[in-house]
Amino acid sequence: MAGATDAPPAQPPLRVVLLGPPGAGKGTQATWMARDHGLVKISTGDILREAVAHGTRLGRQIQSRIEAGNLVSDSTMVEIVQDRLALDDARRGYVLDGFPRTTPQARALDAMLAGEGLLSILLIEVPFEELVRRLQARRVCGRCGKNADPGLANGIRCSRCGGMYVTRVDDSDGVVRQRLTVYLEETEPLVNYYDGRPTFFRINGNLLPAAVTAQVRDALATSRTLALEGGASRDGLAS
Ligand code: ADP
Repeated sequence: MAGATDAPPAQPPLRVVLLGPPGAGKGTQATWMARDHGLVKISTGDILREAVAHGTRLGRQIQSRIEAGNLVSDSTMVEIVQDRLALDDARRGYVLDGFPRTTPQARALDAMLAGEGLLSILLIEVPFEELVRRLQARRVCGRCGKNADPGLANGIRCSRCGGMYVTRVDDSDGVVRQRLTVYLEETEPLVNYYDGRPTFFRINGNLLPAAVTAQVRDALATSRTLALEGGASRDGLAS
């Protein structure tokens, strides 16, 4: 007999960290995840670029670091993310694109989440030569920041807002290599930090975007099952 106890269990909100080198496709996957799973997309790169574009105090402080391919300080980043996660919409679940990027940032995120449930970590892996190729070919809208479809030449207008496509300042040759070096030194150690958690997943990012999305969907389905079963250990579920 159907009764209240037969109702499907409430879905716990998904909290997702996208890990991976520049050019792995984190932004593309974060956009799809936000749409498919009703999550809020929080891209620290977008937040910082907007601050630069608006010439805020923060923007003026960080502009040269970003343009040189270096990281913004942990204390600044933790404050930005903490403030963003405190907004109401983040309660329905979110995907973090670009944070954490260092071990202190990952520790700070764990501390922020204590008592709040599941954290899924998706590492998108792509060979280095392919990353360099993608970043050097990338064009973004100079007005709204949307990525151009690969293969479009500079100067074609954005399909969303009509702005001109341009090369991101930090996608120029030397800066791309610097960002990849910074990734290896500062961010790749996070793989060890998270590996071993039941909700840590490796995703093959060297495929067409839709094939990457299919793996992402499977990973999130597994995460949800673990959360519902309460089967994830203390490390996958903040206790
Ligand atoms: P990428 O394509 O390299 O992943 P993003 O758009 O995520 O680039 O970030 C652009 C730049 O913003 C980074 O190179 C860095 O200077 C800065 N940035 C973004 N997120 C962080 C973070 N969590 N910690 C430090 N710096 C960051």
